[in-house]
Amino acid sequence: METHDTTSALYVVATPLGNLDDITLRAVALLRAADLIACEDTRHSRHLLDRHGIRAPLLPLHEHNENAAAEKLVAALGAGKRVALVSDAGTPGISDPGARAIAAVRAAGHRVVPLPGPNAAIAALSAAGLPDARFLFAGFLPTKAAARRADIARLAAVPGALVFYEAPHRVAETVADLVAALEPQRTLVVARELTKLFEEIAAMPLADAPAWFAADANRARGEFVLIVSGPPPRLGIDAEAERVLALLLAELPVKQAAKLAAAIAGASKNELYQRALELKAV
Ligand code: SAM
Repeated sequence: METHDTTSALYVVATPLGNLDDITLRAVALLRAADLIACEDTRHSRHLLDRHGIRAPLLPLHEHNENAAAEKLVAALGAGKRVALVSDAGTPGISDPGARAIAAVRAAGHRVVPLPGPNAAIAALSAAGLPDARFLFAGFLPTKAAARRADIARLAAVPGALVFYEAPHRVAETVADLVAALEPQRTLVVARELTKLFEEIAAMPLADAPAWFAADANRARGEFVLIVSGPPPRLGIDAEAERVLALLLAELPVKQAAKLAAAIAGASKNELYQRALELKAV
């Protein structure tokens, strides 16, 4: 083991998303040497730990007891122990408990050491093949429809890919809301059951997504990462041209509105025509 992993600290350890072999050599060595392992669900983690002959005592740390569990972590660190933190799957603190305990540990003057590894968002992005150089990790959208739609509207113009986590019973609704609010030519990548038996990664124009899900009920099963590519470039259409176009579009057919807006605002007729089609589709 690297020498800097042998001192007392809180080690934040990423664990597999599904395939139990997806654990780093460093994570196994650290967990074997840990004095205490904080985990979301002790029964769930025991399965992974048993497989690697890891016998350290387990301390439950989940969203309902995180503050109390943090006090126990601080006490263990105060006694010079090596403490690990894992979640049920992937990286602790990423749409998972951990952040409050980590803040408390650091505030108490102890070191926090990340052991990087699996994360569903990064695994999905790595296989998405999208051209975007940037992404925004949006995690889980709100479960209430109005709040979810408002969130999507706020994210629509972010200049990069959008990455969402979603549960199977909500995936169809969320996809419908994405389709309603975002440009139809954006690409949707559905990454389902990553690293597991029924892993599936599919890319499609956003507009085709409802039909893709409707074609096979199995496509709405399992755990999901949804990625939407960044907004299409809006070259040459400034705010004034867009304003004129919107006004004319309220009164005229798309072609005529685009032609007149181009003449009035001095912008490209083709670009305004494309934009008019987008506006009409919303
Ligand atoms: N901390 C985890 C990480 O680092 O990715 C995320 C935990 S969050 C509670 C669980 C969500 O992550 C799932 O609802 C799903 O959106 C995503 N996820 C986790 N495992 C996945 C997998 N094997 N395939 C696709 N998505 C997964």
